Amino acid sequence: MNTSANRGNSAHPLLNSAPVIIVAVACLYALAAKVSFLFTIPPGNVSPVFPAAGIALAAALILGRNALTGIWVGSFAANAISFFDGSVSPHQSGLPVLLVAALIGLGATSGAAAGASLVWRFCQPQHPLYSGRNVLILMVVGALGCCMVSATIGVLSLSLGGYIPGGHIGYSWVTWWAGDATGSIVTAPLILAWHQPHPFRRHPWRILEAAALGGLTLLLCFFVFFRSVPFAYGLMPLLLWAAFRFGMRGASTAAATIALLATIGASRGGSPFVQGTTGTMNETLLTLHSFLDVTIVCALFLAGVLADRQRMEASLRQSESALRSVFQSAPVGISFMKDGVFQRVNNFWCECLGYSEANVLGKTARMLYDSDEESDHVRRELDADLRKDGLAIIATRQRRSDGTFRDVFLRAAAIDAEDLAAGVVVIVDDISERKRVEEELRATQATLEERVFLRTTELAVAKERAESADRLKSAFLATMSHELRTPLNSIIGFTGIILRGLAGPLNAEQTKQLVMVQNSSRHLLSLINDVLDLSKIEAGQLEIHPEYFDLCASLEKVAGLIKPLAEKKGLALRVVLSDNLAPVDSDRMRVEQVMLNLLNNAVKFTEHGEVALEGLLIQAYTFPKQTTPQPVVRLSVTDTGIGIKPEDMDKIFKPFRQIDSGLTRRHEGTGLGLAICRRLADHLGGEVSAHSTWGEGSVFTFVIPLKYQEGEQHDPNPNS
Ligand code: ADP
Repeated sequence: MNTSANRGNSAHPLLNSAPVIIVAVACLYALAAKVSFLFTIPPGNVSPVFPAAGIALAAALILGRNALTGIWVGSFAANAISFFDGSVSPHQSGLPVLLVAALIGLGATSGAAAGASLVWRFCQPQHPLYSGRNVLILMVVGALGCCMVSATIGVLSLSLGGYIPGGHIGYSWVTWWAGDATGSIVTAPLILAWHQPHPFRRHPWRILEAAALGGLTLLLCFFVFFRSVPFAYGLMPLLLWAAFRFGMRGASTAAATIALLATIGASRGGSPFVQGTTGTMNETLLTLHSFLDVTIVCALFLAGVLADRQRMEASLRQSESALRSVFQSAPVGISFMKDGVFQRVNNFWCECLGYSEANVLGKTARMLYDSDEESDHVRRELDADLRKDGLAIIATRQRRSDGTFRDVFLRAAAIDAEDLAAGVVVIVDDISERKRVEEELRATQATLEERVFLRTTELAVAKERAESADRLKSAFLATMSHELRTPLNSIIGFTGIILRGLAGPLNAEQTKQLVMVQNSSRHLLSLINDVLDLSKIEAGQLEIHPEYFDLCASLEKVAGLIKPLAEKKGLALRVVLSDNLAPVDSDRMRVEQVMLNLLNNAVKFTEHGEVALEGLLIQAYTFPKQTTPQPVVRLSVTDTGIGIKPEDMDKIFKPFRQIDSGLTRRHEGTGLGLAICRRLADHLGGEVSAHSTWGEGSVFTFVIPLKYQEGEQHDPNPNS
């Protein structure tokens, strides 16, 4: 059985102490039982009035297991004393008496335990007096039902002890059960109701009313039970009054008062329930108790139903007030409409549309629209969606009280989708501001797009101009270089003729000066050639003439051209070409031009040591901006010259860039060679790169695809 300590027991410290509980319950039970024994009816020695059973049930419900021990002790003590003192006949003594008393105690305890356990089981988690249903469970299961347990065990024990003759067992059982049941029906709710905390409002009128109810009850009981006035049904309205006005406490107290006075009255023979002159006391009490049981159960059931209803009303009031405060303080406009008429609107709605509540309630939404058609249209749309799925969302325009219009979203929800007449909640979301911002944003975006378009057009025009200027410049340079080259070639040619003495003998000074003219002219010619190449490349006029040629032969030829220069500086020129160098399909002249430039630079920037030219076939090489590998030839020119500082590495491939070193100055140059090399390599579908260690030497690498492919250029306009 569940203990009641965790079921709302207000737990005075003493009520948590097991010995105190046992002693208190035992004393109370024994006292009540002893009083009841005054009414025992022979033969059978069974009391037809037994409030101790109600005390036992209430104690077990409130105090739990400890109370059960107290019940047994109390029952045992009361019965044993009664057996010994002779108040129960036949007078007996000795161990059998104690055994019978112990068994009766066991019956009382089992009844209370079963009752409490079942009541908690069916009522939980609420109190047994919480509702009409719980009260019925308490009455039917706890009182009427479980008292059968104590009656059965008790009557059998008495019969075993020889107190009840065999033929009277049934009669005694009914008496016992009726006494216990009525005792429980009257006493258990009384104790439980007064044990349960109850907010009694001490209003003078209520006290007066309670006094009037009490007085009337006593008066009626006096006339009915002591003067035999046949007006017992008059007690019913009094019990109902108590239940309606004073709840469970009032009803149970009135019921207990009536039961007490009725029992005393009946025992004195003044009750209308006395069964004529032939009826026994027992029959009288049984009739009375059946009347009391029905009346009291009905009254208490009603009190339970009322308590339930009051609680529901209170919770409804609370949720209503919570809803009202949410409704009023919600930061959106909410209206409640019935049949198109405003029933309620919240503060935000009034603010949003500029109306006061009084101006709106009872009116239709027509005032928010320009025309009947518009208003009807909105309503039709809302109703159609509401009927479909109980919800509707539409965007519309509503007019404020000042005549201005607001863009709004209406979200409507039907209270009952089946019956729109039950009402509709409409939430108004003012989206005017949002719309304004959206429109501004759209306008800004449009302006921005227009500006971007204009700017792009301007840029495109500027780019076109720049490109055409660039093309013009390149064309100009190409033409000019060509125009310059022709006279220069004549100067060089004629200077050569004169130097060879074909135009007559020259003295030493003339020869020296003519050599200077020839050198300067050659330098100028090489500069013009370079400029011409570069401008052709940049003007997109460079033409590639691919052909299969013997790369080894070309390299040998270039090396042969450089050899005299190297020897002049005392440098070794080493050429290492791998045997498998296949014929290459590329522009021979351009390949030779690149290699000549690299070798020339290597010799130019090397004072001691050697210059090496190596050629190697690589079957699968992937250029940086490509994904598929291809066969290439890698040509590298290694020198032991001055080297290049890391910070100068990206300058050397830019046109007209020379690194400002003493040596460079000593060597003539245009600063165009490497720029041209890189562009040429790119046009051939290859690449030129450099690695160098300052002061130790450099390696320039030229990688050419074995087979030239149109459109395989990696970077059409490299700047570096
Ligand atoms: P230049 O006509 O001056 O040789 P290049 O474009 O061929 O023009 O070379 C640019 C610069 O790169 C050179 O002035 C030089 O400073 C540097 N350079 C080129 N090749 C070498 C090399 N093998 N060793 C050291 N520096 C070099």
